[in-house]
Amino acid sequence: AEPPAVAAVPQAGAESLVLLRRVGVVDPGSLDDYRAHGGYAALRRAFALGPAGVIREVTEAGLVGRGGAAFPTGRKWSATAQQPDHPHYLVCNADESEPGTFKDRVLMEGDPYALIEAMTVAGYATGAHRGYLYLRGEYPRALRRLRTAIDRARARGFLGKDVMSQGFAFDIEIRRGAGAYICGEETAIFNSIEGRRGEPRSKPPFPVEKGLFGKPTAVNNVETLVNVLPILIEGAQAYARTGTGTSTGTKLFCVSGTVARPGVYELPFGATLRELLELAGPPETLRAVLLGGAAGGFVRPDELDVPLTFEGTRAAGTTLGSGVVLVLDEGVELPRILLRIAEFFRDESCGQCVPCRVGTVRQEEALHRLKDRTGAAAAGDIALLRDVGQAMRDASICGLGQTAWNAVESAIDRLGAFK
Ligand code: NAD
Ligand code: SF4
Repeated sequence: AEPPAVAAVPQAGAESLVLLRRVGVVDPGSLDDYRAHGGYAALRRAFALGPAGVIREVTEAGLVGRGGAAFPTGRKWSATAQQPDHPHYLVCNADESEPGTFKDRVLMEGDPYALIEAMTVAGYATGAHRGYLYLRGEYPRALRRLRTAIDRARARGFLGKDVMSQGFAFDIEIRRGAGAYICGEETAIFNSIEGRRGEPRSKPPFPVEKGLFGKPTAVNNVETLVNVLPILIEGAQAYARTGTGTSTGTKLFCVSGTVARPGVYELPFGATLRELLELAGPPETLRAVLLGGAAGGFVRPDELDVPLTFEGTRAAGTTLGSGVVLVLDEGVELPRILLRIAEFFRDESCGQCVPCRVGTVRQEEALHRLKDRTGAAAAGDIALLRDVGQAMRDASICGLGQTAWNAVESAIDRLGAFK
């Protein structure tokens, strides 16, 4: 069934929007409208700069990945471009599945040509002639619009054997996920595209060296890629003037929970959580805010001045992750929320490695018992959770197992859950 449309929340100061500036403004089905709103100026500039020049701009802009891990994009592209093995591939990770994350959906539904253009720039920079767009299966509207955009771009020479008559061949194929959260892990995406079971591979080797079909591959999140367009149009230095020294540009935040105006907000890095909540309409009695999603951590009401940057949230004991801002008021039952998170990880573990396969089950069992316990009665299960959590963190193959205990630990240590 078609999910309801998610709108980018109309924001005061809309003229300063960068990533969302065309969303709700352009006709997502019209290449001409896209071009009338600045579309394909960035690719034109990319061809003028050459691949190395594009990578230099992206590096100088300080762009880091927006999927959650904040790895420097310029470094990833440069490492891919330098690999002697060929062909190179580009994969856009559009399997947006982190609970509470819906920013990429807004970009893909509202401005699909921007992603197509940005993938073409990324392919040009990294020496890839084929891009795979791995799209979350539950995004049918995005699928329709991206398919239309790819077909129309190809028909007009913006994809294909000779992109914009510049002698560069590039095309994009969409592959759909089928509901498994783990298939958003970059190496599980490779397995899924190759027709294998969607399980993560051990890293290293990193995808830049051995990725899709064993070949050098750059994997980038949708929001990361779309940032490349303003970097090329404004230039790296102008782009980097927004935000802070180590978190440059703007960020999309997915605000949900007990707020008056949930939705996607775009703010410069460095705005505080308090400022974001003011825009979204906070609850009268705030209990906590979960930042960074199920693998993230909680912020207390006395910590709302935390700057929304990668470094600021790290210092506050949490993470910005993929931009999840889940607001909980005093009415929530925290043990139930934690149990829901634990159920999610147990359900989505691919089961390939023991610490995660067994640990996520033990974690859920302990949280079931803890639902009705506090104080001394809870101590044994909390100690068990810590042991299991540490084992998952230290010994799991991929990020799912390594972070499955983060939110529970944060609730115990920072919110005093089960005291
Ligand atoms: P990671 O830190 O292992 O890697 C991040 C990226 O950097 C990867 O592309 C990796 O290949 C690359 N990389 C790391 N070291 C490298 C090196 N030395 N050389 C070359 N490339 C290197 O993180 P991850 O496991 O890919 O992702 C974890 C993040 O994903 C978490 O922050 C989580 O919040 C986020 N996440 C997001 C969603 C979503 O829907 N957006 C869903 C689940 C998880
Ligand atoms: Fe699978 Fe969990 Fe191991 Fe990741 S950590 S490979 S999800 S079992």
